[in-house]
Amino acid sequence: MNIDLEIFSPVQAISNPLFDEHGVKVFLKRDDLIHPMISGNKWRKLKYLLKTAQSQSKNHLITFGGAYSNHLLATAAATAKFGFKATGIVRGEQVNNDTLFLCKLHGMRLVFTDRDSYRDKHALFAQHYGDDTDAFFIDEGGASPEAALGCAELVDELTETYDHIFCACGTGTTAAGIINGLSRRQLKTRFNAVPVFKNGAFIREEINKFLITPADYDLHTDYHFGGYGKADAELIGFIKEFVAATGIVIEPVYTGKMMYALYDLIGKGHFEPGSKILAIHSGGIWGLLGMKDKF
Ligand SMILES: *Cc1c(COP(=O)(O)O)cnc(C)c1O
Repeated sequence: MNIDLEIFSPVQAISNPLFDEHGVKVFLKRDDLIHPMISGNKWRKLKYLLKTAQSQSKNHLITFGGAYSNHLLATAAATAKFGFKATGIVRGEQVNNDTLFLCKLHGMRLVFTDRDSYRDKHALFAQHYGDDTDAFFIDEGGASPEAALGCAELVDELTETYDHIFCACGTGTTAAGIINGLSRRQLKTRFNAVPVFKNGAFIREEINKFLITPADYDLHTDYHFGGYGKADAELIGFIKEFVAATGIVIEPVYTGKMMYALYDLIGKGHFEPGSKILAIHSGGIWGLLGMKDKF
């Protein structure tokens, strides 16, 4: 089977009086529209991993994530679509939630693992699947050179140039891929990463691991709102306003923090008037289901 999806990810202008006031233009690349379940950057990250598994005739994909992991859900949906078997190793005690329900719906087997053993994923893989010649290891969040390769293709799809690109950042693989894509095309676009957890400065090391050539870029580390999966009334209020004003759904874990950062920096006059800014909607809107009680 040919492992591919037709990419539908249009670039769309968004408007706000704030942008006019500061003389900037803001666009959103709608990677969230690539697939309803294999959403956004997760398809780009999985594409070459699935192709590699297929070329090695490995039919059982083993991967890792927290109980609300967009990566687990994307893997479950992608493996179902392309005819693989999948096991998700889930951090922590057995729970049920909307994300895990959707994983199971796509036929993913779930194995819950205590937080200590979860830390060493290669050891877990060797222990449970070391003898399984069909098993293929995919790291948490899909982090890998293959994933960075897939994300670089986002840049090839752009038909215009931008002064800035903004992207939310978890493992940093998507950021690295986009930076590689910019380097490959020798574009001067400034990349801006918004880490979604506390003390995000360390992510520079993770991003740099996957860079094909050294590159300079900006990290905006002050938009974590208390840490991964954390949100306050300010962030939730921003998301509600954004969704109501644009009709585009964002969520508090990734895209909400990234867009908040962008609006905040525009308001602070961070960008030169005339700047064209492209934000990446990296998908993940099912994450909303785990945060209903915050709204
Ligand atoms: C997983 C995810 C990210 C983070 O991607 P990394 O490559 O791990 O940095 C960003 N946005 C959304 C919506 C995600 O689901």
